[in-house]
Amino acid sequence: VIAERGVAPASVLGMGLSVCGLVDQQAGRIVFSPNHGWRDVPVRTELRRNLAFPVFIENDARISALGEELFGVAKGVEDFVLVNGAAGIGVGIVSTGRLVDGTSGWAGEFGHMTIALDGPVCGCGNRGCWEALASEHALLARVPGQRGAPAGGVTDDERPERWRLVASVAAAAAAGDVVAGAAIRETGRYLGIGVANVINALNPSLVVIGGGLSEAADLLLPEVRAEVAARAMRELQGVCRIETAALGIDTCAMGGVALAINELYTPSHLRIARPA
Ligand SMILES: [Zn+2]
Repeated sequence: VIAERGVAPASVLGMGLSVCGLVDQQAGRIVFSPNHGWRDVPVRTELRRNLAFPVFIENDARISALGEELFGVAKGVEDFVLVNGAAGIGVGIVSTGRLVDGTSGWAGEFGHMTIALDGPVCGCGNRGCWEALASEHALLARVPGQRGAPAGGVTDDERPERWRLVASVAAAAAAGDVVAGAAIRETGRYLGIGVANVINALNPSLVVIGGGLSEAADLLLPEVRAEVAARAMRELQGVCRIETAALGIDTCAMGGVALAINELYTPSHLRIARPA
């Protein structure tokens, strides 16, 4: 990328890298990525062999929350969640302006909460997980002729292709295609059920829908809002907006920028989004 853009390597201050799954930030390794089937991958060590600048890594949903907090729709919002609807679903939780880590830095794996008793098998080994019912893959699997989750996992190269497919399903639905419309409605309903659960659990003032599903947000959001209206506690839904990520599919990339800025330039006691 640096060579392609004609950027002088010496002017690069750092890299913020987004990866799917559970990340050990201190060690710079992927602990487990259900969508790729990866365990124990020392990403930073591999990258640092060829790069002269610092590399920071973070989970894709959590890094996307940083992106929307610094550059997007969550600017100045103290308590919000970002629902990253990608190959899977992850949630970045920001509370009182800081990214919630949990004991291992893995808080936010709502994608693996069980939504359907005997639902489809998920990459984590469970059945009926939220992400097995409401992710990009789940949407595409509902449209015959489109691909669902490939058995061998998903490579990053396929990501723009998935975004294009999500956008094409949304366009077909908007043009009146019955199958595409039903796929959007079912996916939106499952997405909304999970969002209602997240709202009840965390009491955010804003839910941001990001990831590739943001390509179909105009059609998904009404379904999500209807499910939340029907299912979340009235008091909690009454103080919560649901919006699309302002940066769309670039949220994750801009989150990498936000992560690097945060790590490089913010004194640890002032960091807006990550404890030292
Ligand atoms: Zn799962």
